[in-house]
Amino acid sequence: MEGKLVVISGFSGAGKGTVIRRLMEQNKGYALSVSMTTRQPRKGETDGVEYHFVKNEVFEELIRQDGFLEHAGYVDHYYGTPRAFVEENMAAGRNVLLEIEVQGAMQIREKYPDAILAFVTPPTAQELKNRLFGRKTESEEKAMGRLRRAAEEAFSIPEYPYLIINEDVDACAQSLQSVISGAWTPQEPDGPHIGGEIITDPAEKEAFARTFSARLEEILSQ
Ligand code: 5GP
Repeated sequence: MEGKLVVISGFSGAGKGTVIRRLMEQNKGYALSVSMTTRQPRKGETDGVEYHFVKNEVFEELIRQDGFLEHAGYVDHYYGTPRAFVEENMAAGRNVLLEIEVQGAMQIREKYPDAILAFVTPPTAQELKNRLFGRKTESEEKAMGRLRRAAEEAFSIPEYPYLIINEDVDACAQSLQSVISGAWTPQEPDGPHIGGEIITDPAEKEAFARTFSARLEEILSQ
């Protein structure tokens, strides 16, 4: 049986990478897509592990060859999902995880209506700021740029069927697993799931997004 395509989005620096690693440690049958990007590696990042780091020309050539499942521009750089890895792993029955931003997620939603889309977020805007500035792998200016971007991205939260609150890594990974495996459904919010909070109600998602974005604006104007 073909594996599922799973899109996980979230604010940059909000800890979704950690949640994905935990999900893969605790459950078999997953493959994580390694994206291609034109941004510079950060300290500690290795080519082929976090990303395939390439020059603009290489990226643009692969666009021409239709080598991406999706691609997008984000803070001055290209990011994209190489098509071959995803197709091979899904055919082999593995669930493929894409850790991508909103524009790419919307492309996947169009092309793959069966894909599962989840947005993972820290519980509050202040917590996002603390996580972004706490990581110290890039300049304050860049961290501010990511916060600004997050204030815009928050408005896309309602586009995702699942909003998962990342208060605790284990709980959040469990929630993701229950959504992906189909053990939890929006119709049965009190079903067999144990884990972090999952919000699927459109009005609740919108309220969360509005509050989060407004708080971020306040933080940015301080
Ligand atoms: P970062 O530079 O912090 O690693 O990533 C910036 C943003 O790009 C994150 O939101 C990340 O999820 C997203 N991203 C990473 N790879 C891809 C990709 O292949 N496609 C798209 N559309 N976004 C990606």
